[in-house]
Amino acid sequence: MHALEVRNLQKTYRNGVVALKGVDLSVEEGDFFALLGPNGAGKSTLIGIVSSLVNASAGETRVFGTSVQKNRSQAMAEIGLVPQEVNFNQFEKPFDIVVNQAGYYGVPRKIARERAEYYLKKLSLWDPAFRMSRSLSGGMKRRLLIARAMVHEPRLLILDEPTAGVDIEIRRSMWKFIKEINEAGTTVILTTHYLEEAENLCRNIAIIDQGRIVENTSVKALLGKL
Ligand code: ADP
Ligand code: ADP
Repeated sequence: MHALEVRNLQKTYRNGVVALKGVDLSVEEGDFFALLGPNGAGKSTLIGIVSSLVNASAGETRVFGTSVQKNRSQAMAEIGLVPQEVNFNQFEKPFDIVVNQAGYYGVPRKIARERAEYYLKKLSLWDPAFRMSRSLSGGMKRRLLIARAMVHEPRLLILDEPTAGVDIEIRRSMWKFIKEINEAGTTVILTTHYLEEAENLCRNIAIIDQGRIVENTSVKALLGKL
């Protein structure tokens, strides 16, 4: 079973920018997969289509066999998305942010609270769980995005440049958490423009440039070539 299958995916924005020019990609269940490419390559567009925040111009996307285009809510239930920008309400408490997110996916309140505690503890956020999130450090806010994305226990976790602009200490601690999530069985896809990040963490890699996949291989094989 593929966690993700993308076939001939194309995206032309309203302003005429062609962001994806026929992308084919598959990610195996359990994989730790990197989508590597420079700014403007089409990474966020691809992630946006997979998580159904952006409409494709053509092509098909399947998440664990479910078509994102035909069966949006079922596909979304399989996905946890960690966006590039901190986009939660900073006047809410971490615990409430995570519990409320579970509510969007129909997780019963009692289970949502148990899971919020579990993931906040796992991400070293239990201490500030009932403080205003505005007071969290940058690294804590990033980890809160991960806890929020995991609370409905998606089988696929997608992180859009999770460590962009964070210092090396925070980056290392985030890598550790993401690795643990993958080892617990969740398929992980992250976008990055750091080769270092892809090679340290990931098993397989696709390189995207100007809306096309230019390489799709294992990280081991890629490093052998360089
Ligand atoms: P990446 O995430 O790799 O930096 P993006 O998917 O954000 O790449 O962008 C791919 C291309 O699409 C770029 O040329 C970008 O300027 C353009 N683009 C992205 N979002 C939009 C949008 N909402 N409207 C128009 N063009 C966009
Ligand atoms: P709205 O109610 O404003 O339309 P949504 O219900 O789409 O917002 O999303 C609520 C929150 O969940 C937002 O912060 C959004 O960024 C985030 N979100 C949206 N889709 C996902 C997803 N697939 N996984 C995790 N978080 C998501």
